[in-house]
Amino acid sequence: MTLPVMIDGEWFQGQGEVFSSLNPATGELFWQGNAADDAQVSAAVAAARKASAEWVKLGFDQRVNIARRFAELLGGQKEAFATCIATETGKPLWEARTEVGAMIGKIDISVKAYGERTGQRSSEVAGARAVLRHKPHGVVAVFGPYNFPGHLPNGHIVPALIAGNTVVFKPSELTPAVAGKMVELWLEAGLPSGVLNLVQGAKETGIALANHRDIDGLFFTGSSATGEILHKQFAGNPGKILALEMGGNNPLIVDEPADVQAAVYETIQSAYITSGQRCTCARRLLVPEGAWGDGFLDALTKAVEAIQVGGAFDDPAPFMGSVISEAAAEGVLAAQEQLLKRGALALVQGRKLQAGTGLMSPALIDVTPVADIEDEEVFGPLLQVIRYGDFDEAIQRANDTRFGLSAGLFSDSEERFEYFYQRIRAGIVNWNKQLTGASSAAPFGGVGASGNHRASAWYAADYCSYPVAGMEAAN
Ligand code: ADP
Repeated sequence: MTLPVMIDGEWFQGQGEVFSSLNPATGELFWQGNAADDAQVSAAVAAARKASAEWVKLGFDQRVNIARRFAELLGGQKEAFATCIATETGKPLWEARTEVGAMIGKIDISVKAYGERTGQRSSEVAGARAVLRHKPHGVVAVFGPYNFPGHLPNGHIVPALIAGNTVVFKPSELTPAVAGKMVELWLEAGLPSGVLNLVQGAKETGIALANHRDIDGLFFTGSSATGEILHKQFAGNPGKILALEMGGNNPLIVDEPADVQAAVYETIQSAYITSGQRCTCARRLLVPEGAWGDGFLDALTKAVEAIQVGGAFDDPAPFMGSVISEAAAEGVLAAQEQLLKRGALALVQGRKLQAGTGLMSPALIDVTPVADIEDEEVFGPLLQVIRYGDFDEAIQRANDTRFGLSAGLFSDSEERFEYFYQRIRAGIVNWNKQLTGASSAAPFGGVGASGNHRASAWYAADYCSYPVAGMEAAN
């Protein structure tokens, strides 16, 4: 296990408060250390600043070579890395393996996107050619969440580094072991000292980094509550780039498709994968009133009751692992309790499965009788069912949120999908496919309270650098 702080190629113990991660499926201590204090955060930013000029000078191809070496090393340790993710997050090993695969794939995607974005352009001016190049911002801070502790920060770090930025990385305080392992691999891959620095810790460390006057950009993935705080902080810095990836209250409409089993399957994948801890997970399921809707809900109820929940390494492998902590499970159950008190009906009631752990069973709650439900993201395996009268009402309810990350429709009619697509407000819109199935090569993100940028592909190349437009005399 690594120490919590890495500055200029050297590992340190933190000088702040003690914090730790647990294996949430067992409650056992997994990692412990001290948080980076303000002085260490400043030292990390200074190291990144010092390393910046040389890193830019090294050139794109050399930077890409190091990124490829990182991917190779990660590939060689795939099982160990996936085991670390599964232990620290509680997600099943099969899913942790997929996460590592996505991290490796990100290198090629980012290199290709950057290549497509930069280069010569033709010009409408006679005797001149327009040239578009990209320059890095300088020092950027990357803030990571716990649900994909490898894949999501990696999705910012890879494009940021190959674009020529240097980075100070502040992972989630719930997944320090995964973060340390990732940074260790970058050093092993030959990343020059100071190009990537690590400051671990909770909110205080995050505040110190976000407020540091010498960062040029901040790329954040996490909750909307924190993202909104960062947005306010950055309001006074119009020259700095702030890329926010936040939550959602994602709607899924089931418009009487003929294949009920397929719709049930995709609904389960949408709402309960990663124990409902993907920002794209379906939170609200819109089901028509009447006999078709009753039948669909019967089939869905049975399928939810049949979901296997268990430890990350159980054999046979469960579909759902633990949520990130006992406190997180209690938070989901408290939200369920509130809904039930206000008149909601439990089609399947979520329950704690083992004291001292984050193991809980999935919940399916019919909230149709509840008036004025809060527009809050319940980040866990709880799906709210809303019965609707006609399709326009379904779309209106779907859009009745300040978020706008993912939205989906199950329908056999392409016309209905087009109608839905024209009216729905979201950054990811899926048809007859699980909401959580976004391609890694596609721009990823939402509108409204869900974010202001798109991670991945050419969009990442854009926010990781600024374009320089030039006009040159043509020979
Ligand atoms: P999640 O629950 O998805 O991990 P959070 O928003 O709680 O999302 O955390 C995302 C990241 O932001 C974490 O690294 C966390 O420590 C950090 N963070 C939390 N609060 C603040 C804050 N007020 N200022 C800066 N960083 C913060």
